[in-house]
Amino acid sequence: QTRGKALSATGSFEEAVADMAKAANMLREQQEETLRQSNAAARARFQFEEVNGKVALLAEQRRSEKLIFAIAGTLGVILIGTLLLLTRNALLSRRQFQRQALTDQLTGLSNRRGVSQRAAQIIADAIAQQRPAMLVLLDIDQFKTCNDRFGHGAGDDVLVAFAESMRQCVRSGDAVGRWGGEEFLVAMPDANVHQARLILRCLRNACAKIELDNAPGFSLRFSGGAVEIGEGTEDLNTVMKAADMLLYSAKRNGRDQVRFADASSADSAALSGVTRISAIGRI
Ligand code: GH3
Ligand code: MG
Ligand code: MG
Repeated sequence: QTRGKALSATGSFEEAVADMAKAANMLREQQEETLRQSNAAARARFQFEEVNGKVALLAEQRRSEKLIFAIAGTLGVILIGTLLLLTRNALLSRRQFQRQALTDQLTGLSNRRGVSQRAAQIIADAIAQQRPAMLVLLDIDQFKTCNDRFGHGAGDDVLVAFAESMRQCVRSGDAVGRWGGEEFLVAMPDANVHQARLILRCLRNACAKIELDNAPGFSLRFSGGAVEIGEGTEDLNTVMKAADMLLYSAKRNGRDQVRFADASSADSAALSGVTRISAIGRI
């Protein structure tokens, strides 16, 4: 452009015009280049910001997802924990309910249903495995006179004391329960007449030591029927009938004694399944 001005000053107009046009061209090209560059820069900036925005959005989404997962996880843990707790409580109260349903409230021993179940199992096992077992039905002597003389409460105390003595004398695997009223049942797995006698002697001695303040002078004695399980034994029902008959015969014979029988031969129906009285008399 400067050169064009100089040339025009010297009168070289054609050259001056050519130079001026060239200069104008160069200027336009420069401007176009600058514009292109600024456009490209703007586009790059826009793209960068677009990508940046997407990245930020993605990060935000991730954060939200993580938060949702964390909340869902926590809620899941709380829900599972609550369910486990509820199940545990339900099981516990069910077990407690079942235990109560099989327990005698007064003595804490098994009730008739509880001891029946266990005795039936002991008898069934003894038959299946051809092992000995004993079933003993006991009844407190002259218990009514105790009630009559000292009152029902004192009678209850006698029942509790008797149950406690039973607990002390039986072996850990024996089933003990209150059959009803002042009658009690013991089922002894892996026991013969000899072992049953030892347990009953222990019980008799323990009862002899019992002195209750509210039943002074009452001598706690009992009678019983003891059946040895063996060949010919059918089930709890049959054995109970036999034990009951033996108990009745012990009462008739003067009380304070346990009558023994075994079910090993089946040649008499007199004791409904229990056929041979193997030992009679006091424990
Ligand atoms: P035996 O020597 O012939 O067995 O005479 P007993 O007096 O022991 O027997 P009886 O069947 O004549 O009387 C039993 C009594 O036991 C009658 C009943 O009122 C009483 N009895 C039953 N259950 C309970 C109880 O839970 N508590 C009290 N205190 N007495 C009870
Ligand atoms: Mg009775
Ligand atoms: Mg009685």
